[in-house]
Amino acid sequence: MITRSGIIEKALSLGFGDVGFTTAEPFDSHRECLRDRQEEYGWAESAGLALMAGVDPKSVLPTAKSIIVLLDEYFREAFPASLESNFGRCYLDDDRITKDGLAVMIKAFRSFLRDNGIDSRVPFNLPHRVAAARAGMGTFGKNCLLYAGRRARQSSWILPITVVVDREFSPDDPTVKMGCPDWCRNACIAACPTRALKGNCAIDPRKCISYLTYFGKNITPRELREPMGMYVYGCDICQNVCPRNRPWLSQELPVNQRVAAKAKYFELSALLHMDRDYFMSKVWPHMFYMSHDDIWKWKMNVARVMGNSRDDRYIPELVRAFEENSDERVRGMIAWSLGRIGGSQAGKILEGFLKKENKGMIGEEISTALNSGS
Ligand code: SF4
Ligand code: SF4
Repeated sequence: MITRSGIIEKALSLGFGDVGFTTAEPFDSHRECLRDRQEEYGWAESAGLALMAGVDPKSVLPTAKSIIVLLDEYFREAFPASLESNFGRCYLDDDRITKDGLAVMIKAFRSFLRDNGIDSRVPFNLPHRVAAARAGMGTFGKNCLLYAGRRARQSSWILPITVVVDREFSPDDPTVKMGCPDWCRNACIAACPTRALKGNCAIDPRKCISYLTYFGKNITPRELREPMGMYVYGCDICQNVCPRNRPWLSQELPVNQRVAAKAKYFELSALLHMDRDYFMSKVWPHMFYMSHDDIWKWKMNVARVMGNSRDDRYIPELVRAFEENSDERVRGMIAWSLGRIGGSQAGKILEGFLKKENKGMIGEEISTALNSGS
């Protein structure tokens, strides 16, 4: 009969950072939280995230008796600085499509369970962080993230993976609580550029840059374009400023060669001009929250970032993209970006655009960009 210690030994040998156990009881307080905050989380159900169903582990495995939580330390190696500036780190080595990294480890772990007569499921919609805290693996920060209790220098650069199993194991003591030091004056809340963090370990996901970069439906509202800064996809600001993450961030780490090898595909200019084939072969396998129908969103985000860079070397790229795109959300953002870069060259180009496009949303964006005084 397989024991807890046998499972822990196997998980660690496969490369997981930590292992914890909790019961398969429903996550009642999380259900209440989702119910109380329908306004903020209602979109998640229509996006197919099924968060409400995920509060009951038996919804994925009716014979569920325990949850084994595995910890992946996704920031064990450094990422190229060019990528860290524009992308959340947790997305940089995501193999959920390519299935050649973490997925191999999870598969091997489940095979081990199966060989020992244990049925398992790895659902996407369980509250993974809450499950990890209930399994005694870490505490929360006011940025709503989980901080490891034993690994990764107790930082938040971790990904909990929940494995629901049909075998009962004694649970670990829960650590479901806030772990922030009193002396930290809410650095994450102050640093969040879009005011998504609400101060009581709550977040309005609709205001978070991560949500805005891949779930936003229209052209990014003007008042958010500057605050969203240099992020194309995801955001790490509330983790970068956190003193609980300083010990990890203070190290020299070897470079992640898998990620370094694909960095060229994520250069801003390449993304701004990509076609569907490029997107499907180079981008989507690694960052897949947006489908090929949403390439416009990628281009709009990249145009915004180019504008926020205030680097006039991007002007020719933006002009070319204005000519080659028909989507008005992309073209409108390009106009904004030229205004943000500013200077006489960008001004003359905007004046030329306005002669050809002086109506509708694009005309308004061009006029506003010209009057922005940059
Ligand atoms: S990820 Fe960025 S936008 Fe989202 S809460 Fe943190 S700092 Fe704010
Ligand atoms: S920045 Fe401060 S308040 Fe925010 S998660 Fe880190 S320690 Fe907690």
